[in-house]
Amino acid sequence: MNEKRVYEVGDIVFLKKPHPCGSNEWNILRVGADFRLECRGCGHQIMVERRLVEKNTKKLVRLGEESQKNT
Ligand SMILES: [Zn+2]
Repeated sequence: MNEKRVYEVGDIVFLKKPHPCGSNEWNILRVGADFRLECRGCGHQIMVERRLVEKNTKKLVRLGEESQKNT
């Protein structure tokens, strides 16, 4: 399977492996060869290689689209 996701700053990514704090939701702060992610549970920030993010993504949520759906 060769699923292409488009990651953008401000999106929320759900990873398969939860952070030790229990949350698996991450804010995307920076995209590139490495991503900067901020844990939505505890605020911890990490740098992760793009391919690892792609491999471990369970779900990608675009906040803009979510709020449009709610209106
Ligand atoms: Zn955390």
